Amino acid sequence: MSSTQSLPRWSQQSWMDFAVCVGQTHLFFPAPGEREPARRSREAAARSLCGSCPVQDACAEYARRHLEHGFWGNESEDERVLAGYAPAHPVGASRLRRAARKAAQHVASTDAA
Ligand code: SF4
Repeated sequence: MSSTQSLPRWSQQSWMDFAVCVGQTHLFFPAPGEREPARRSREAAARSLCGSCPVQDACAEYARRHLEHGFWGNESEDERVLAGYAPAHPVGASRLRRAARKAAQHVASTDAA
């Protein structure tokens, strides 16, 4: 039995040693009941950190592959939903409705182009 088998999956990623977001978890995952303005502000701060992170590509690829929740690799959860990487177990119905609304707007805008 490997010594890493009891660790969470995300803690076994070597690229995380180079993450610039250590200790900033509150920027990458919503607090319960987070409203839209707070989400926009939180995700803008997260995006700013990701923009200077040397492991952004590995992080984004990991989140897509594992259908993660939250903000990873300069990509919001809604952006991953639009790209076809929706979390297997969405946290809330309001998030689903918002993602569906954004997907419909995205389809409408690409159809009009
Ligand atoms: S890309 Fe963003 S979420 Fe991923 S490790 Fe870097 S700062 Fe953290």
